[in-house]
Amino acid sequence: MCGIVGYIGDQEAYPILIKGLHRLEYRGYDSAGISLINAQGTLSVYKAKGKVSALEKSVEGKDVSGTIGIAHTRWATHGEPNATNAHPHFSQSKNLSLVHNGIIENYKALRTELEKNGMTFCSETDTEVLVQLVEYMMNTHRCDLYTAVQLALKNVIGAYAIAILEKSHPDQLVCARKGSPLIIGVGTTSSGRKEFYLGSDATPIIEYTNQVIYLNDEEIAIMDRTGRLDITNLSNVKQTPQLVTLQMNLDQLEKGGYPHFMLKEIWEQPNALRTCIRGRLNVVDKDVLLSGIIDHKDKFINCRRIIICACGTSWHSALIGKYFIEEACQIPVEVEYASEFRYRNPVIRPDDVVIAVSQSGETADTLAAIQLAKEHGAFLYGICNVIGSSIARATHTGTYLHVGPEIGVASTKAFTGQVITLCLLGLAIAKEKKSIPEDLFHLLVDELQKIPDKMQWTLENNKDIDKFAQMFTYCKNFIYLGRGYNYPVALEGALKLKEISYIHAEGYPAAEMKHGPIALIDEEMPVVVIAPKRGMYEKVVSNIQEIKSRKGKIISVVTEGDEVVKNMSDYSFVIPDTRDCFVPLLAVIPLQLLSYYVAISKGRNVDQPRNLAKSVTVE
Ligand code: GLU
Repeated sequence: MCGIVGYIGDQEAYPILIKGLHRLEYRGYDSAGISLINAQGTLSVYKAKGKVSALEKSVEGKDVSGTIGIAHTRWATHGEPNATNAHPHFSQSKNLSLVHNGIIENYKALRTELEKNGMTFCSETDTEVLVQLVEYMMNTHRCDLYTAVQLALKNVIGAYAIAILEKSHPDQLVCARKGSPLIIGVGTTSSGRKEFYLGSDATPIIEYTNQVIYLNDEEIAIMDRTGRLDITNLSNVKQTPQLVTLQMNLDQLEKGGYPHFMLKEIWEQPNALRTCIRGRLNVVDKDVLLSGIIDHKDKFINCRRIIICACGTSWHSALIGKYFIEEACQIPVEVEYASEFRYRNPVIRPDDVVIAVSQSGETADTLAAIQLAKEHGAFLYGICNVIGSSIARATHTGTYLHVGPEIGVASTKAFTGQVITLCLLGLAIAKEKKSIPEDLFHLLVDELQKIPDKMQWTLENNKDIDKFAQMFTYCKNFIYLGRGYNYPVALEGALKLKEISYIHAEGYPAAEMKHGPIALIDEEMPVVVIAPKRGMYEKVVSNIQEIKSRKGKIISVVTEGDEVVKNMSDYSFVIPDTRDCFVPLLAVIPLQLLSYYVAISKGRNVDQPRNLAKSVTVE
């Protein structure tokens, strides 16, 4: 996971790197570190355990001058999160410093080999092997850094995005990637020369330039102070970089008056979803336009089945997508945990469509799952939020969420963005397949269009969740129940609570209670029931009775005006009425707010929960 930042140009690097680390802190916050070369040619490395602010404190009074530097915020995979294991790592002679995002799978074998050749290691990380290997190649092959990186990476198995400084060549920066993301920002210095920025995503770069190059797998880049940028692959074949203009602005990366990104992103949902459906849902003509479907309609009309691969929250949105697509398109849909799918030799045929759902578009397991599907000839469709991300580029076509950058580690607007995108996708396929009657299609288009307003209503009519949430500060467990389309919402509600408050929570299909979990119910157990006045309403009312008879505390999500469930509940959240299939888009909002305010009442850091990072770019 980790975040990488880099700079070479005329400006002082330190403020650029620190600001960039703050922006990337959502990716990991076990430790932070920075490496600079000053005007005298000294290569320094500073690192600290914990957040970027700890690093800033630790460098007070030290020399942080220099117009070239690299920096890192870590989500530890190999070696405990301490200052020694923090990046950047020095090579043995201290001529090189390196930062890395990813996992070097054969690091043990490489380390043993290097140790045999006299190299000594300071850390427990897989990363240190890289910097030592590069130095070893420079020494044994008497070659320059660039060539040494090429040689070293040929021996590496695993995933990496790396950036390297060389003390004896203070005017150049070398970076490379495979499997982990890396973007080069191209700016212009005051003297009109090119300057270069590096980032694991665009957030540390956008403040300075919107011109970027997405480095591809197995590419190595060298940038220098004269403005030279050369990119080759591992076999030394020159690549032609594609300059892309970023569609992102700085305001989207700020908290905008909210105490946390998560709360901002929860409240942003109505607008974010308006943007998501803009141009895709046409209420005047009652139409759905998704170019990914229109351009490849035969693939969808003729496919044998759809497989959706995802992880975490995206897996929950995928499950809602499955219910909707099966209902609207009459195509069998399987939802797979990407991490399981990729390792279990699944049956994939050329007439399967595989959809990858990932906010970041960098989720390592999801990326590997679609690579496997590609080898079997399946048609690949990507649903991502981050433009130009690896999954977006690895799939044949797809749809971006367009909900804006999501910074809070617990996903909120990306979840609803994914759900509405999967609904659009289902409608677009249904239109091509003519699998639902026209009048129903029109009704669904009309109702989907109203969802952002109904989300706004939901936010404005559940404003006292903050006070209510305090009752659960000392609670140890929660159960979430839902049926049909709301079963995945129960899973998502439970996941949100676990992620940010660290309270144990389980989501179940409501009818499954009596097959075991009901044994957990007593007067201490809060049970959140999603009980809209739709679909299996009567059945859910019976499930609530069963819990009440065992003295469980009922927190319900009810349709506005439903007094029956409200009166049976200890507390209720209200949502406006909508069609069954769109209830998840509304019902999840009070659950997001509940988890947020319970976490706040417990004093948790909601934007940076322990042990988590936003995009899981490692296995
Ligand atoms: N494997 C490296 C470490 O543990 C980098 C981890 C990552 O990219 O998440 O330091």
